[in-house]
Amino acid sequence: MKDFEFVSCAVCGSDDTDKICDRGQFGLPTHVVLCKTCGLGYLNPRWTKDRYIHFYTEEYDKYYRPEVYTNKGISRVNYYLPLYKRLQHHGLSPNDVTSVLDIGSGDGNNLNYLIQQIPKATYYAIEPSAQCRETLSGMGVNILGTDVDINFHKDFESAFDLVIMRHVLEHFADPVDAMCKVRHILKDDGIAYVAVPNNLKFGNSKLLDNWFRVVHTYYFNVHSLQHVFAKAGIEVLDIQEGDQHNQRELFAIIRKGKTSDVTYTPNHYTQQKALFDKKLKGERGLLQKLKRWVKYRVL
Ligand SMILES: [Zn+2]
Repeated sequence: MKDFEFVSCAVCGSDDTDKICDRGQFGLPTHVVLCKTCGLGYLNPRWTKDRYIHFYTEEYDKYYRPEVYTNKGISRVNYYLPLYKRLQHHGLSPNDVTSVLDIGSGDGNNLNYLIQQIPKATYYAIEPSAQCRETLSGMGVNILGTDVDINFHKDFESAFDLVIMRHVLEHFADPVDAMCKVRHILKDDGIAYVAVPNNLKFGNSKLLDNWFRVVHTYYFNVHSLQHVFAKAGIEVLDIQEGDQHNQRELFAIIRKGKTSDVTYTPNHYTQQKALFDKKLKGERGLLQKLKRWVKYRVL
């Protein structure tokens, strides 16, 4: 299979998996599997690194951010308002931070909210889209790199008060490696904010038409996300499965900790598998299949 690679489970190293589907959003190849040992959801096989780089630099904005090519000034929801409120809610003082790294900033629409709230802080970003990097630079944001897989962390040991990873961890090649880097760059009293789609709370979302995406290499739930943190030496201050801002979002406030052993229970796998199976049964009816065929020419 050209452009595809096989990977073992990033959490437990196992290759014993259950296949969930082969196609996802936009009819693109999306081979979701569940690890039978630890319950982690991930793509296997998945696009190679080179294929993903091409997609993020050349194609991603066309699918997901068509507005970056226009100057229409579209007013959108700001996703960093919940971040700010959630930090405050947990007794933290976001206004005291002086150095912020935003991983996967997009066009800066979200970060702009924080810059207005905390103007004295220095802002850094990692962002693959050239168009978005240009916008961010224009806002005074320092660009650390294009990709979390580069060694951006080496020169920034214990440098940041706040690291933001809003809906990015599920896009990475290796979430444990990414969190190890975050651990390295956090100050001893620094915090990171991680938010991902919650695969135990996808609500009415259609899995095959929306939820499963070729760009989402991982499908976390409250169990697997904590496994990643434990393996990376991250301490969880709080982890929540949704709130009034977003019911389908799993978010965590974390800091440097110690690596710890992880105990996997069969329930982590069976709970996720049962939920996916139940939803997919409804989406694999003849009418649904025909609709997908008309739309994408795939079943
Ligand atoms: Zn596993």
